[in-house]
Amino acid sequence: MGRVVVVGAGVIGLTCAVRLLEAGQRVDVLARDLPRETTSAVAAAIWYPYRAWPADRVLAWARDSYDVFGSIAAEQSDSGVRMQEGTEVVSRRDELPWWSAAVPDLRETVEVPSGYDGGWTFTAPVVEMPLYLDWLAARVVALGGSITRLNLHGLPATGAGGPDAVVDCSGIGAKFLAADPSVHPVQGQVVLVEQVGLERWWLDSVGTEGPMYVVPRSRDVVVGGTATEGEWSRTPSPEVASAILRRALRLVPELAGAEVLGHRVGLRPSRPEVRLERVGDVVHCYGHGGAGVTLSWGCAREVAELLG
Ligand SMILES: Cc1cc2nc3c(=O)[nH]c(=O)nc-3n(C[C@H](O)[C@H](O)[C@H](O)COP(=O)(O)OP(=O)(O)OC[C@H]3O[C@@H](n4cnc5c(N)ncnc54)[C@H](O)[C@@H]3O)c2cc1C
Repeated sequence: MGRVVVVGAGVIGLTCAVRLLEAGQRVDVLARDLPRETTSAVAAAIWYPYRAWPADRVLAWARDSYDVFGSIAAEQSDSGVRMQEGTEVVSRRDELPWWSAAVPDLRETVEVPSGYDGGWTFTAPVVEMPLYLDWLAARVVALGGSITRLNLHGLPATGAGGPDAVVDCSGIGAKFLAADPSVHPVQGQVVLVEQVGLERWWLDSVGTEGPMYVVPRSRDVVVGGTATEGEWSRTPSPEVASAILRRALRLVPELAGAEVLGHRVGLRPSRPEVRLERVGDVVHCYGHGGAGVTLSWGCAREVAELLG
């Protein structure tokens, strides 16, 4: 049994920690931000491979994660994960989406709100992130791992009193911890509104004014969003929030009059390609862009294999 330090307590770090603990490693998670303070806590979050590359690896990780989320939804009622049908609308009907092989029940939809040419209806894992991150963190601890707040100025050294291996799941922090200039933020803002009885999600991933999604959860609805390249601010903009709600109303008129409960901003850890590779005793696993939740279990499996 080896001793592994996982840096980062977002969805990637916690999922890797669970898989490594299940594989018999001793795991300590170190993170500047605890789970509910991370970008991961802001995610909407539906399973959808958005703004993450390369396509072949992303498809394999997304497919693997789809199946694991399906099992969690079926077996763990307190996990915040459920399988829910919804529709992605498109302004121009085209070929099957490139990720269609990962989804068992994808079908074309012709009846869509005005302004759209068609859509794809399918069942996707919907993950209520604050609950799910709590569930993952509890799993880490139940399996014998630890989670400690620590702001690191470099990745921990391995060997001679240190851990046997380090897994770098620092998200946007990898820009500095891994000295990787290709990591950059893609800021996303969402509005949380009261649950008005919605039971399906809606998505327009390539809207002319940015991505748009309406994701119902148990107690609220996440309405998004934006994707602003290179923006580091985590302060919500009231003007952006109004624009998000205006656009969402065109897609889901039932939201009219819904009470606004809160605003959130997160920095997607973007990179030309997800970095998942072993370099000596360090496994880097960051740069999941807009799909960290979607790719989490597939990536965690690969990380555990690299340290197996
Ligand atoms: C508005 C919005 C909506 C989204 N919707 C979806 C969605 O529907 N589906 C989906 O799959 N994805 C979605 N995403 C993307 C998803 O949130 C990210 O891909 C994912 O959260 C990345 O997870 P992570 O664990 O790599 O990073 P993070 O959650 O950012 O965690 C990084 C961890 O590393 C730690 N860290 C960093 N630097 C240091 C340091 N120096 N010392 C110690 N610790 C450090 C941090 O403190 C934190 O604990 C969305 C993102 C946003 C912003």
